[in-house]
Amino acid sequence: MPSNDISSIPTIPLLIGGEFVQSRTSEWRDIVNPANQQVLARVPMATPEEVSAAVAAAQAAFPAWRKTPIGTRARIFLKYQELIRANMKSLAATLTAEQGKTLADAEGDVFRGLEVVEHAAAIGNLQLGELAHNVANGVDTYTRLQPLGVCAGITPFNFPAMIPLWMFPMAIACGNTFVLKPSEQDPMVTMQLVELALQAGIPKGVLNVVHGAADVVNALCDHPDIKAISFVGSTKVGTHVYHRASQAGKRVQCMMGAKNHAIVLPDAHKEQTLNALVGASFGAAGQRCMAVSVVVLVGEANQWLPDLVEKARSLKLGPGQDNLDLGPVISRNAKARIEALIAQGVQQGARLELDGRNPELPPDMAEGNYIGPTVFSNVRPGMAIYDEEVFGPVLSVVSADTLDEAIAVINANPHGNGTAVFTQSGAAARKFEEEIDVGQVGINVPIPVPVPLFSFTGSRASKLGDLGPYGKQVVLFYTQTKTITSRWFEDDVSSGVNTTIRLH
Ligand code: NAD
Repeated sequence: MPSNDISSIPTIPLLIGGEFVQSRTSEWRDIVNPANQQVLARVPMATPEEVSAAVAAAQAAFPAWRKTPIGTRARIFLKYQELIRANMKSLAATLTAEQGKTLADAEGDVFRGLEVVEHAAAIGNLQLGELAHNVANGVDTYTRLQPLGVCAGITPFNFPAMIPLWMFPMAIACGNTFVLKPSEQDPMVTMQLVELALQAGIPKGVLNVVHGAADVVNALCDHPDIKAISFVGSTKVGTHVYHRASQAGKRVQCMMGAKNHAIVLPDAHKEQTLNALVGASFGAAGQRCMAVSVVVLVGEANQWLPDLVEKARSLKLGPGQDNLDLGPVISRNAKARIEALIAQGVQQGARLELDGRNPELPPDMAEGNYIGPTVFSNVRPGMAIYDEEVFGPVLSVVSADTLDEAIAVINANPHGNGTAVFTQSGAAARKFEEEIDVGQVGINVPIPVPVPLFSFTGSRASKLGDLGPYGKQVVLFYTQTKTITSRWFEDDVSSGVNTTIRLH
């Protein structure tokens, strides 16, 4: 393992009131390159005073920012998208080093966030109110979508560029100020994006960053000056954040864990379908909330299992910078957890068609957190590999006789993040799309994450709160609708005192 001289390891600053400052905490964690265990930097667990200072800076910046003209706000995001594009290679390199995904996929991570920034630049069209004339004689009613105040965001490790960009650009474009708590496992690319946001012109105090884990998250949930919290992460933590922050009177949206099923009907285009499934199951080493983790083969499609396994076996493992098919998983703990789930799968009677544990690797990859593509067949509900979100390169294959049976399997699963059907039949696809109880549906599309013209609409156990990230829904999430009813008196007309509810 490479040795690290602690004094030469960079520390990640906090951002408070427009200044990058060193935390005074005594508690630091290492940010570790998952491909070789090199410590890249150290991240502080911010103190309660630092969290309060970040919220206070956001609170102080709010009165001026909420009145900043639409055009000024929009132009910051126009500039920001240009800066992100110009720095794409360097952002992707940082992301790959700290997170492990391939460089090409890291660029995709940044790019999907960039699309939200582009959308934030259209805020003028998104934050329009409504107006009705003459709701009574001479009375008009109109609405404003007003910013809430200080909002906060808590993000997971798996998309350290895209998910912070789901949050602060739209919140700030709507006129709010923001406190971001990035994942403590890979906050470096997030900080690079934050620096670019300041360069784009986000004023002091409008965007703040605190680092930490449970204590900092709890402090944000409890803080009386924070009006709304966006969370993306695991179901366990998201459920805690939702209840704790709701209890403190905040608006909360939590996007959480998943178990995404894809149904394959025998009339599907075989080659396209298998390629799509293998890419969606094992890309990013299965660490996507929309990864396909269960394939339901229907009827004759069960005969495709050997070909599915062979395609999975052909994928190449390597450090993200080599741009092969899969990089390492995020940490040694994550690797041990995934391997334990694979062992449990065997123990519980699933058939291990392809075992990715202990892959053969050259000596220079020996320290990486590598797990190869793993495929189980004969998987049933009740087995840990089916019931739990593995969040690694492990695909479970379930067998069904009919489309109805396959739909019933998915609808009985508590999660509702994403699902897909592979078929050449319009009628089957339409039936699936109508009857499936999952918030994001793909038809021959394995990872149906909507672009920011729409909203991310995971459902059931994958989500708490009504409104999703980005698109139209997030404008409603980050604003309060105020309805104004107005009348202007004409000088010498009076109808006397009116004690009824009529307005005229
Ligand atoms: P996580 O829940 O461990 O961490 C998410 C955030 O919560 C981090 O910022 C972390 O510091 C904080 N946190 C961790 N433990 C905490 C605790 N006990 N109390 C308060 N805060 C705590 O999630 P992760 O492992 O970083 O990310 C992977 C998970 O995120 C997966 O379950 C994945 O499905 C989910 N995810 C969901 C979506 C979606 O849109 N539905 C998108 C990406 C990731």
